[in-house]
Amino acid sequence: MKIAVLAGDGIGPEIIAQAERILLALKSDGLKFELEPGLLGGCAVDATGEPFPEVTRQLVAQADAVLLGAVGGPRYDSLPREKRPEQGLLAIRKALNLFANLRPAILYPELASASSLKPEIVSGLDILIVRELTGDIYFGQPRGIEQRDGQRVGFNTMIYSEMEIRRIAHVAFQAARKRKGRLCSVDKMNVLECTQLWRDVVSETAAAYPDVSLSHMLVDNAAMQLVRDPKQFDVIVTGNMFGDILSDEASMLTGSIGMLPSASLDDQNKGLYEPIHGSAPDIAGKNIANPLATILSVAMMLRYTFAQEEAALRIEGAVGKVLAQGYRTHDIFEPGTQKVGTAEMGEAVLASL
Ligand code: NAD
Repeated sequence: MKIAVLAGDGIGPEIIAQAERILLALKSDGLKFELEPGLLGGCAVDATGEPFPEVTRQLVAQADAVLLGAVGGPRYDSLPREKRPEQGLLAIRKALNLFANLRPAILYPELASASSLKPEIVSGLDILIVRELTGDIYFGQPRGIEQRDGQRVGFNTMIYSEMEIRRIAHVAFQAARKRKGRLCSVDKMNVLECTQLWRDVVSETAAAYPDVSLSHMLVDNAAMQLVRDPKQFDVIVTGNMFGDILSDEASMLTGSIGMLPSASLDDQNKGLYEPIHGSAPDIAGKNIANPLATILSVAMMLRYTFAQEEAALRIEGAVGKVLAQGYRTHDIFEPGTQKVGTAEMGEAVLASL
């Protein structure tokens, strides 16, 4: 197993350093892999003039998985658009054909008061949103703004092929199989033909997964149910635009941006793993960033790319244990708990691992 490690900018190097400690501990326990560092984002612009340099392109093409910190920072915001760190992020997703985005929204019971919802609604929340990432209205043609009958009109095309729907459905069914075995497919079939096809193809795909129970929900109802009773869901699968909105809604149910990992996968389960937060320039270099989202991204990598479920559970269990022991970085700190820095939190996870 070869893991490309792209620490990136801002707090990226600090949080990645803690994730690497966890990986190295697993290596000394017998897990076989190599870590290869590379440059992406602002640090790559500084070194090479490009946010996604050729040498990084080759590195990630040869790797089995990519672990990413975060990219970006105010220093780069005045660069031409194609030179900005965020372009490196879009380019790497495209280069690796990462069509499946997996975002868990997990709320450890100890952090239930971080949510803006009542603790009893969200405590112990553990849902997974599977979002299609390379199709839908975000990429469909034709698109544009033009003059028609003396006024401007704007238009986009919502489009999905059977193949695109089927492959993301397989990812979602397989993920559900590794969890509680319940999948809810979200669409808007009552008004959009494109999503009628979505519902039909997801239903056809279900035949290969008799052990997973499939339900369907309209997107407006799903948005409402996520805040009314989020624990009714196990895995949700949906298209690019609905997934964009619902995955942000779901992650904010937990109220703690420093806790949430994500995975973006291709059709061979090669993946890019990263925390959902950005490079947090306001706290960079201060040893106060929360490294848990990045450490939990390593657990996702072990589960989805390397099929090492036991090692993934070990990491998740270790994170649960440090929270139960009362360790908190500043973003999740509450009176009565013990405030620790980035490195100390990494140390605590290592100890409980
Ligand atoms: P952000 O997620 O970096 O920060 C938002 C707030 O959350 C800040 O107050 C920050 O201090 C806090 N925060 C974020 N991660 C934290 C952590 N691990 N521990 C504790 N607190 C944390 O979002 P932003 O400020 O809008 O963006 C900053 C930069 O990051 C921008 O350049 C943006 O383009 C970039 N960005 C990158 C990614 C990525 O690399 N995937 C994602 C989002 C934003």
